[in-house]
Amino acid sequence: VAKKQGRNLVKPFVPSMQDELAKRIRMEADLRAAIKKAEIVPYYQPLVDLKTNRIIGFEALARWKTASGEFIPPNDFIPVAEEAGLIVGLTDQLLRHACTDALSWPSELVLSFNLSPIQLSDRLLGLRILKILGDVGLPAHRVELEVTESAIIQDAVTARIVLDDLVNAGVGIALDDFGTGYSSLSQLSNYRFDKIKIDRSFVSSFETDDKQDKVIKAIIALGVGLGVTITAEGIEEESQLRRLQELGCDIGQGYLLGRPAPAEKLATGQVGARILQRG
Ligand code: C2E
Ligand code: MG
Ligand code: MG
Ligand code: MG
Repeated sequence: VAKKQGRNLVKPFVPSMQDELAKRIRMEADLRAAIKKAEIVPYYQPLVDLKTNRIIGFEALARWKTASGEFIPPNDFIPVAEEAGLIVGLTDQLLRHACTDALSWPSELVLSFNLSPIQLSDRLLGLRILKILGDVGLPAHRVELEVTESAIIQDAVTARIVLDDLVNAGVGIALDDFGTGYSSLSQLSNYRFDKIKIDRSFVSSFETDDKQDKVIKAIIALGVGLGVTITAEGIEEESQLRRLQELGCDIGQGYLLGRPAPAEKLATGQVGARILQRG
């Protein structure tokens, strides 16, 4: 009986796990090759000032286009890059690419760039980012880095060193996906963020859910109180846009205002404005 139970405690290695493992190993190898060939590139989604209806910048969103023409979304390959130790090289490559693209935009437009949570535990990250900006010649004040709450909680001491290096150089810091994950109110007073990005999950449900509407209202009030700019992510409907404008939200982002697009398809200035002026 004991033997039987003991055996049952060990999870058998079933064929589906073998498949998973094989898939993972292949993905890692493909990812390594894709980085080498620079097949992962930034797409850009407009950030629109909801008061002036003008595009104020773009968020870079990584896209992996495989040789077969298939697109692999970042939520699938960024975690693999993190675990395989490829995220540093990938980030440097993407950031360099994005900064070079941003150089050709009107000089008032900002480039917003996502950092992986684990990167904030690398105390040289800030300096490496500043080196890239310097190499490319993009002024620090034109760059904003998006970090999440979990990134800061993981290694608060190192995160502060990294963020201080960046902030002191003039780079903006945005708190991404605000309202999801850990409670972040303590982070808000510990760090100086320039922006809070309200997570898409609030925006997608706030019309039908009065509580979500109140949450958004409260976050906007918090932004006013702290002197922090508020961005709403995931705006898909005109009614959502109107409500956010009513509530005094500063910046909007979402498919309604513009989908992520390759660098060569960017219409700086008009994409969002055209939609906003219809109403
Ligand atoms: P995020 O930074 O919160 O980016 C916003 C995500 O929402 C993007 O997904 C964007 O395409 C999507 N989105 C924007 N507007 C709408 C909308 O109206 N409706 C819907 N349903 N979705 C919308 P994406 O591009 O798949 O990126 C997912 C996440 O992957 C990002 O979330 C970010 O955390 C991460 N990521 C993307 N690029 C990079 C990168 O270069 N480096 C790192 N470390 N992470 C990245
Ligand atoms: Mg982001
Ligand atoms: Mg986000
Ligand atoms: Mg996200």
